[in-house]
Amino acid sequence: MKTAKRAKDRRSVIIERHEFKPQEECGIFGMACKESRDIAQDIYFGLYALQHRGQESAGIAVQYECRKVSYSKKMGLVSEVFPQRRLSEFPSARTGVGHVRYSTTGSSNVANAQPVVFYGRYGRTAVAHNGNIVNCDRIKSRMIKNGHIFQCSIDSEVIAALINQYSEESLEAGVKKACGEIVGAFSILIMADDKLIALRDPLGLKPLCMGKLNDDIIFSSESCAIDALGGTEIRDIMPGEIVTVEKDLTVRSTMLDGVIKRRSCIFEYVYLARSDSRIDGVNVYDARYECGRMLASLCKIDADAVAGVPDSAIVSARGYSEVSGIPYTDALSKNRYIGRTFIQPSQSMRENSVKVKLNAIKANIMGKRLILIDDSIVRGTTSRKIVQLLRDNGAAEVHMVIASPVVAFPCFFGVDMESKDKLIGGHQGSDAICKAIGADSLHYMPMELMVKACGGQKSDFCTACFDGDYPLDLSDYNLDKFVLEL
Ligand code: SF4
Repeated sequence: MKTAKRAKDRRSVIIERHEFKPQEECGIFGMACKESRDIAQDIYFGLYALQHRGQESAGIAVQYECRKVSYSKKMGLVSEVFPQRRLSEFPSARTGVGHVRYSTTGSSNVANAQPVVFYGRYGRTAVAHNGNIVNCDRIKSRMIKNGHIFQCSIDSEVIAALINQYSEESLEAGVKKACGEIVGAFSILIMADDKLIALRDPLGLKPLCMGKLNDDIIFSSESCAIDALGGTEIRDIMPGEIVTVEKDLTVRSTMLDGVIKRRSCIFEYVYLARSDSRIDGVNVYDARYECGRMLASLCKIDADAVAGVPDSAIVSARGYSEVSGIPYTDALSKNRYIGRTFIQPSQSMRENSVKVKLNAIKANIMGKRLILIDDSIVRGTTSRKIVQLLRDNGAAEVHMVIASPVVAFPCFFGVDMESKDKLIGGHQGSDAICKAIGADSLHYMPMELMVKACGGQKSDFCTACFDGDYPLDLSDYNLDKFVLEL
């Protein structure tokens, strides 16, 4: 009975997770300081700014005198895991790493929270990772056969063990050799041996940038966290680059071996990243605004107002409004305080979940022909509920304009999506989707315009969830574990 109940509860959580939008799996943040100080406080604020990238667990590890490591990780939002009392228990330290997690591989429990902390060749070591490794099972099986033991089910632990195994000569040599073996998406921070190492996979699938706060060095998944600390962004870590910060804050850069070609995740610009971040030199805000402007030139719709689905599509809606001359309005208000604990116990409550998260602003939409911009359509269920919500609250017409092409393929690189048959664009055409979501019309951003708005060419980005053009040959791997089935 207990097992059945747990399974049912788990299903409730999973349905909730998929109800709204795909989720980024993780955010990472690290600092190396000139002097020992209260570094955990700064990492806390960095993680707080990255909370949108993972809401299931949070962790901080700091390295202090004689390479000791103090760490703490728990399930919950950053503010729940680290109340002031807990933060003040961290010792003064020179280096530290932090992590926020949303699970796609490995179950959602504290054993899988990060940073991964272990005793290795260079003493206490902490590893924080964002991304998915597609050949992880294979490497893990081989290592287990050779006598390695693992405590949890996340690929980050396998990366940590592999780096340690290959680090006979030096930590950086171990990183290089391990990264030559792992296949997939990875931005990683490693803290050991009085060093902080940051690296990005050869395709640069996951973002990672470097900044400064006075003399101290910061690494972060997104620049918004550097800004939050009052720091200055220096640059992005390049695809395939390993940056090592020594104890005296000397910074060294080397490259991974093999083919290195930027194919960064375009979904970061579309939806995942915060609008105030810069990724690979492009302001996410500008990319979204430009998408809206382009959509207005492309889709001429006779309407009274244009609105965006909060938060990511609001910027595109403003761009659309500017070019079309149709006034922008706020049609939806979002409840921003729903954390991982929002579990709906019954089917009827699940049906109402969109209403709990989003409410229509009746006075702004009553009797109006509305253009509603959203960043993407994944399953279609959320779009259907939002369209219905707007109609129930008086919208005369709802025209959906999507600031990306239709999502039709799953992601295997760390963004929580569905199997192809669960993605509405994976098996239905535009007219059928329009009918399914109950909109008066439905329009998409063409791929060539989306990549242009994001400041590059198609060959600069991974666009696989839109067109199936995966930047890695995946035919050799078991990908089942990356697809969450309902
Ligand atoms: S498949 Fe989509 S979400 Fe995944 S990395 Fe590629 S563009 Fe990003």
